[in-house]
Amino acid sequence: MLLPLTEAERKFKVSISDRVRQGMEQGSWIRRMFEEGASLKQRYGAESVFDLSLGNPVMEPPVEFNEELRKLVENPQPGRHRYMENAGYAETRAAVAEQLSLETGINFTMNDVVMTCGAAGALNVVLKTILNRQDEVIIFAPYFPEYLNYVDNHDGVTKIVPSDEQFIPRLDVLETAIVPKTKAVLINSPNNPSGAVYSDDFIRSLGVLLSKKAAEYGTAIYLISDEPYRKIIYDGQQCPYIWPHYQQSVVVTSHSKDLALPGERIGYITVHPDCGQRKELVDGFIYCNRTLGYVNAPALMQHVVRRLQAVAVSVAEYQQKRDFLYHHLGEMGYSIVKPQGAFYMFPRSPLADDVALVRELQQWRVLTVPGRGFGSPGYFRISYCVDDRTVAGSLDGFRRAAQKFGLS
Ligand code: PLP
Repeated sequence: MLLPLTEAERKFKVSISDRVRQGMEQGSWIRRMFEEGASLKQRYGAESVFDLSLGNPVMEPPVEFNEELRKLVENPQPGRHRYMENAGYAETRAAVAEQLSLETGINFTMNDVVMTCGAAGALNVVLKTILNRQDEVIIFAPYFPEYLNYVDNHDGVTKIVPSDEQFIPRLDVLETAIVPKTKAVLINSPNNPSGAVYSDDFIRSLGVLLSKKAAEYGTAIYLISDEPYRKIIYDGQQCPYIWPHYQQSVVVTSHSKDLALPGERIGYITVHPDCGQRKELVDGFIYCNRTLGYVNAPALMQHVVRRLQAVAVSVAEYQQKRDFLYHHLGEMGYSIVKPQGAFYMFPRSPLADDVALVRELQQWRVLTVPGRGFGSPGYFRISYCVDDRTVAGSLDGFRRAAQKFGLS
């Protein structure tokens, strides 16, 4: 019989770090649902499983993307696939800055832009650049769960502040949560998982609060706005910009969602042109893009998206899916705050135990993610960036769960 390993032996034999092992053991709910979904698909066939668990758009990129790609492939140029400046191609950064200036009336230049490997790469670059050990980053529940990992990657500490019933961050709680160690406040609008869009008034109040607290403590508090869903917004609204309301601000974004290119890993960071220590900050981003091992954003994609700054996938298609689900789930008795953007909704679970609800839906081969995975137990997330057959096919399972738990 094998004797159990002593603590020393266990440490010696195991090759990966404690932090990584712990992270892997905890896993993410999204990943867990993905894996369980894969086994359901194997058992019942993919067409009998209604997978609403992932934010991986089924929509193809716009035709303009293929046209740009074709032009590049048919017109090879020497050096196109070489290393470049770590900030990215000057022409691409200039194109991003030009479009942003047009949309905001603020004068951005290529020096305010760094191209990155998606929004995830951008967030890691920003956090690596600004965080000292134990500095705090405030996020708002419900949140994109990877934020916890990204802050931890760079030895920061995440502090979580709740949102209100409409999924708008609670500024009264934020005020008490900010301390001298607070280095950044990270927001995400349109929001994953709730679909909430923060109003201009809200961002103004947030800016006023951050300015007040920064002055009170004599610190720099960065506002980081994660905006990969900016262009996926409904009912003819506009997504307000943070720029007019706070200068110590940074936006991270990507074309993963607005051009449906998540596998291509193309995104960027922009900095407020009047941000204090702007040059040092941007130089820090460029340095970290290299030293984190991203080196630079993918060359071919930088060429492609340069000409696609004003292009986006069909938002009308997402809006149709939102309307369809919102209508039918509402009729069944689910309580939902109507999403204003992104392609998620975050209904209240009819059971206090959101995992039990998700397990019940799984019985009917409908895959969703429990709210606790986003820091908000008692809710569940539906991702509707899937084809219409999957959206429509999920209704039966939702109806059965609603009936079982006394909603209808
Ligand atoms: N931020 C949010 C809120 C997201 O939902 C995602 C992806 O789903 C990301 C960042 C990462 O995006 P990217 O694929 O561009 O790295």
